[in-house]
Amino acid sequence: MSKPKIVVLGAGYAGMMTTKRLTQKLSPEEAEIVLVNKHNYHFQTTWLHEVAAGTINQNQARIMISDVINPSRVNLIYDDVVEVKKDENRVVLANSEVTYDYLVISLGFETNTFGIKGMEKNAFSITDMDSSRMIREQIEYQFAKYSTDPNPKDEDLTVLVGGGGFTGIELVGELAEKIPELCKKYDIDQNKARIVNVEAAPRVLPGFDDKLVAYAKKSLGDRGVEFREGAKISECKKNSFVIGEGDDMEEIKAGTIVWTGGVTGSSVLSKSGFELTKGKVTVNGDMRAPGQENIFILGDCAWVMDEEAGKPFPPTAQAAMQHADTCSDNLKALLRHQPLKKFIFDDKGTVASLGETDAMGTVFNDNKLYSKPAVSMKKVIDNRYLFLLGGPKLVLKKGKLRMW
Ligand code: FAD
Ligand code: NAD
Repeated sequence: MSKPKIVVLGAGYAGMMTTKRLTQKLSPEEAEIVLVNKHNYHFQTTWLHEVAAGTINQNQARIMISDVINPSRVNLIYDDVVEVKKDENRVVLANSEVTYDYLVISLGFETNTFGIKGMEKNAFSITDMDSSRMIREQIEYQFAKYSTDPNPKDEDLTVLVGGGGFTGIELVGELAEKIPELCKKYDIDQNKARIVNVEAAPRVLPGFDDKLVAYAKKSLGDRGVEFREGAKISECKKNSFVIGEGDDMEEIKAGTIVWTGGVTGSSVLSKSGFELTKGKVTVNGDMRAPGQENIFILGDCAWVMDEEAGKPFPPTAQAAMQHADTCSDNLKALLRHQPLKKFIFDDKGTVASLGETDAMGTVFNDNKLYSKPAVSMKKVIDNRYLFLLGGPKLVLKKGKLRMW
């Protein structure tokens, strides 16, 4: 008799951890495991702002999948997922197709521009290695061009970041370290370069602790980051953001424009006919899609309600990894005809980097961390993930070992 086939789509935090856990929890005789991903590498999405600013070697954020997932145990397919034919238990890939008995959809997020005019066309975004590398190249190009241009425009040295959520704030933190370096490299007066973060809400990091936000703003402000709060972007032109409308309209020009204003689930979900809540699938307590006994939806593709707070949990790597634990346990339970368990989110806190030298956040029951302890904690969190994925060898190879 053939073994049941589990197919995992997407090798991000949720997909990698699910696959890893399945190889640990199931015997090779119990199931065939297939992992499908666009590239032959897994990237650390949580480090992409560093790739975008050019403060990290891009290869540090990239891990070859076959280095951490045993290819003789898991069938690795590198291809683009196009659509899930859920009535036929079949996944259409760009170059082939794959059938399944059980499916895990963990295809991550896509940028959400909320239909803002010109945003998709004119702004860069941080979604994967390629899009992040393009930001780094664009910034460096602007500085190199400025230093050789007979009629240089100062505005070309401005980096405009739209959206002051955690991605936007972490990006301007890295830029605060990179831009002075570029000024030195290209003999440019540092006063001419600007980093501007534009946020629609009355203050950046809406909903986050006031004291921590004040700390972040001061730290970044002291290093030259400008904040425009309560400033809703209504349009993105080739070289500018338009803020506000009518008589209150204002234009900020820049040589590099990055949109960090929001994310949504993979568009494969809508193409595959899933019922969606803001681009994601509202999963059952056991992480399965409603009405689908054999399909799990994880990570940024899943809309998971925090019943107590009456709103969804934010899409984070922390949550994606916990989804993977529940999903792998539940797949094992399904194969062994045992009861499934309910996903319970264990909030370990949130720590945000403010460049390499500063950070802030909360850990374990809202304990606030600032400065060096926060920098170290952020690295501990990052290294812990590497440890879970590939043991001490991976931590030594790709980890952040200098603690501050
Ligand atoms: P992802 O990690 O995005 O992985 C999806 C995978 O699917 C990728 O490998 C992708 O290549 C692949 N894929 C996508 N589409 C296809 C397709 N059609 N076919 C084949 N493969 C495909 N969260 C935290 O908890 N802590 C942090 O510090 C933190 N920092 C962040 C910093 C940045 C700059 C960003 C952008 C996000 C950060 N987040 C953080 C959020 C976190 O990264 C996401 O919530 C997390 O990556 C979601 O994991 P995932 O497995 O759902 O998707
Ligand atoms: P987000 O949705 O959290 O933030 C987007 C920001 O853009 C919001 O503050 C929003 O008000 C603003 N915005 C939206 N439209 C705008 C407009 N027209 N003009 C100006 N501002 C506008 O998105 P994100 O920052 O990419 O974060 C995505 C997820 O990843 C979140 O769950 C976040 O918690 C997580 N994340 C976590 C970390 C961390 O833990 N260190 C780091 C990065 C991201």
